Amino acid sequence: MKNKKVVILGGGLAGLAAADKLLENGFDVLILEKAPFLGGLASSFVQDDEQIPRFNHHIVKSNTITLDYLKRYDLLGNNIWKKIKMAMAIDGKLHNINTPIGLLNFDYLSFAGRIRLGLFGAYLIFRLNPDNIPDDMDAESWLLKYAGKEVTEKIWHQLYARNKFNIELNKISAKQFAHRLYEKEGYDDFTFPTRGLQGMIDGLEKDATKKNAKILIKTDILDLDIKNKTIKYKVDNNEPVEEDFDILINTIPVPELLKFMKNLPDDYVDKIKKLKYVPVVGLCFGTKDFLDKNHYWINLIKERIHVIYQHSLLIDKYKNKVTWCVRYGGSEEDIKLPDDEIKEKYLGVLKKYFPDIELNWCYVFREKYAEPIYDKDYLSYAPNYETPIPYFFNSGIQVTFPKIRNMNVALESGINVASIIKGKFK
Ligand SMILES: Cc1cc2nc3c(=O)[nH]c(=O)nc-3n(C[C@H](O)[C@H](O)[C@H](O)COP(=O)(O)OP(=O)(O)OC[C@H]3O[C@@H](n4cnc5c(N)ncnc54)[C@H](O)[C@@H]3O)c2cc1C
Repeated sequence: MKNKKVVILGGGLAGLAAADKLLENGFDVLILEKAPFLGGLASSFVQDDEQIPRFNHHIVKSNTITLDYLKRYDLLGNNIWKKIKMAMAIDGKLHNINTPIGLLNFDYLSFAGRIRLGLFGAYLIFRLNPDNIPDDMDAESWLLKYAGKEVTEKIWHQLYARNKFNIELNKISAKQFAHRLYEKEGYDDFTFPTRGLQGMIDGLEKDATKKNAKILIKTDILDLDIKNKTIKYKVDNNEPVEEDFDILINTIPVPELLKFMKNLPDDYVDKIKKLKYVPVVGLCFGTKDFLDKNHYWINLIKERIHVIYQHSLLIDKYKNKVTWCVRYGGSEEDIKLPDDEIKEKYLGVLKKYFPDIELNWCYVFREKYAEPIYDKDYLSYAPNYETPIPYFFNSGIQVTFPKIRNMNVALESGINVASIIKGKFK
């Protein structure tokens, strides 16, 4: 009997993991990727012969699925696990709040606020169970109860509402927010594979190609008729091609899918088109020295950039010290600016905290769909793995609510969708 043919839209981690599992189970696979490279949000660029992720990426010990893939491609072994230090950057000053003394000296909050923040931290570590939070509860109501008014307004409103999603805290899902906190990123062990993330993406590509998957990059999808199971696409400047398929998996952002998808039921389209994404604009740059030798992760409050990650504090293998700084919520106003203007604006903020910074190289990266906006109604419209069409499935970060959006859940979603398809079609 002929193998069933699965078309996968998007060659990010979800698409690659789905392909990997489907190929193991005797499906034919075609991956269509728009970008000139695979790996999506987790892809890398090359600087001084080293692969560096476009956007800040690290792995924590609880990311067991990511770790399994890295092991499969022999990318772990001599990597170093580290506890990281975080800081808050406010009004030109860095505050280290990792220790009780640091917290007590954190004069951005009143003394009572500092104690409340400490107690909230202890609650997160010892008591929090995100699964007990109602699906439609908003983050503000939940925070006011557990963190108090001052900490909610001066810390979480800034970090999660303004910086992360650029919507009000009372619109954000408490459950998803709590899942994020539950990961206890600040306390877990952090690492980054010595040979980079790209080895995992290249390994998955190589394995899929060995099993006769067709993987096309630089692909524009022109038309997708879900009723007739046909897809028309163009690779680079070549002539358009039309193909039939048996099964379709979508891993690309929903607004992109809806641009070319035909014959989906109207009520399904009306539902999933409510999904909104937050963009990200960031710099990745190399310097001779670290910005400071302590803080891997610096959250900025009331600034144009939102987080600084000193990558080389996790893995000091590059010719330069590598750092990212990123803006999420509100970065839609930056996404169309020329690189020079973004550099000028973002470096202006960096210099307030690190006046001596001198860059040896610096790149701007932008992504329109960095993360779904997990608002409190997310579950009422979010796509699920299964759809009203029995041979059309979703995967990727849009189906992983309420878990924190990371490589681990993207890979897991690829594995999950493949197993659902295997169960239905084998
Ligand atoms: C700034 C930032 C920091 C992050 N930090 C971490 C971290 O520290 N640790 C961690 O584990 N994870 C991190 N992540 C998350 C991680 O990168 C993602 O969860 C994961 O890569 C998502 O994989 P995906 O396949 O679901 O989606 P994507 O990577 O978005 O894959 C979708 C693919 O579809 C393609 N596509 C889009 N439109 C079309 C189209 N019309 N036709 C064909 N293809 C199309 C895209 O080019 C992309 O390759 C971070 C993400 C960002 C943005």
